[in-house]
Amino acid sequence: MIAAGTVYLVGAGPGDPGLVTRRALELVREADAIVYDRLIPTGLVAEARADAELRYAGKEPGQPSLEQEQINGLLVELGRSGKSVVRLKGGDPFVFGRGGEEAQALAAAGVLFEVVPAVTAGIAAPAYAGIPVTHRDEASAVAFVTGHEDPQKPGSAINWEALARFPGTLVFYMGVKQLPEISKRLIDGGCHADMPAAVVERGTLPGQRTVVATLADIAERVQAEGVKPPAITVVGPVAKLADDIAWLDRRPLIGRTVAVTRARAQASGLAQRLSRLGADVVEAPAIRIEPRPVTGEVAQAAREIGSFALVCVTSPNGAALLLDAVEATGGDARSFAGVEVAAIGPGTAAELRGRGIRADVVAEVSTAEGLLEALSEIEVGGERVLVARASEARDALPHGLSQRGAAVVVVPLYDTVAEKLGDDQLAAVGRADYVTFTSSSTVRFFMDALGGSSLADGTRVISIGPITSATARELGLEVHAEAERHDIDGLVETLLAEAART
Ligand code: SAH
Repeated sequence: MIAAGTVYLVGAGPGDPGLVTRRALELVREADAIVYDRLIPTGLVAEARADAELRYAGKEPGQPSLEQEQINGLLVELGRSGKSVVRLKGGDPFVFGRGGEEAQALAAAGVLFEVVPAVTAGIAAPAYAGIPVTHRDEASAVAFVTGHEDPQKPGSAINWEALARFPGTLVFYMGVKQLPEISKRLIDGGCHADMPAAVVERGTLPGQRTVVATLADIAERVQAEGVKPPAITVVGPVAKLADDIAWLDRRPLIGRTVAVTRARAQASGLAQRLSRLGADVVEAPAIRIEPRPVTGEVAQAAREIGSFALVCVTSPNGAALLLDAVEATGGDARSFAGVEVAAIGPGTAAELRGRGIRADVVAEVSTAEGLLEALSEIEVGGERVLVARASEARDALPHGLSQRGAAVVVVPLYDTVAEKLGDDQLAAVGRADYVTFTSSSTVRFFMDALGGSSLADGTRVISIGPITSATARELGLEVHAEAERHDIDGLVETLLAEAART
């Protein structure tokens, strides 16, 4: 729910897309206009409506950036024009985000506004590094401090002596550059040189890095390691808890790069699973699914769906598009009354279930042969059987059913077409530890995209099942592991087992 003529000051969290609040996502999806900064989680702005007005207000190296006054003016103007406006900021909008000033400007101008708090980097980055900012035994208070200011500056707004005596954890934002001065001022102010200190670079993002040291040597260590912004500095006894609690580095796929080649529309689920397991994911969608229009043979089959004795669905895409076609021609799940439904693979069965249809038969082995085997008990002689599938597919299933006397109607619901891959995408795949393939056509299109070259020696191929593996081998790839269960869960399981072994 979003209101016209209102400006929403929205925090986007520290970077991990999973840490965006539901409210933030809802507002981004509905806004007329979005004014956004740097350090917004990838993919969040892409959730905006296609016709939303997008304004970048962040700093770009070498580019003139909008002054705060101009941003305030822009927000007031957009709000007054009657639009619903999302002002999207990294982390929390009121923690060093200048959200307070923007709210003041809106209040002064009489523009309606709301504030949507969020996960701030000063808590989340330490948490992802295994540092709790408070702890029953170690810290009963926490202070958020800007490290942006030059501590040498006369009339500094920061009382360094007070901070040095602060009984708890100090969390510095924007402090990488000033770190030598910050630690010096704290030690001069009476803080122990041996006090634990940690810097967390790119907290919650891929490539997160933590340096743990003491206040005396943290600046040197950070410089030696080449730590760059964005980074959070934590000073206090809790910083050393990273040694015990760091959990991110213990995830099973940490340090591994995995390429996902399946169509973009379906890749995100797999990609998300893999990154939650710690992998660095390269998305290289080699194919795209193009649904065929619901006309001609597709429309006819959809309209007559109830007249088939058996409907065979060969992929999750096929399941979704078949139901779409049935709905487009005025039917719904009830149109399948009295029809036996058979699915290749648990993913296909799950898609059907989501649309109100429980498959009567699910192939244990997710191939056409597997489905024929599973259907061996079912009498199809003289019956009308529909095979709903991609336009280009093996003929094993229709052929096998015809041989058993069925009158088979094959309806191609979609085409799989090549998706262009950029050189840098291909190069990233080239550096990957694993490439995952979820269908024969993906292997084919991917190898086409490689244009004659092959994968790097160290890159291991993980395949979803025997047919995909056969195609890969045919095209000269060595298949390192094949999923036992031919669906995404099976693929992930196999990848985990493979990663644990090597
Ligand atoms: N409003 C933001 C802070 C903006 S100031 C919030 O609540 O998080 C920008 C500073 O935030 C950066 O210089 C850095 O110190 C910190 N920061 C933002 N994102 C970060 C991240 N992913 N990892 C570490 N520090 C981050």
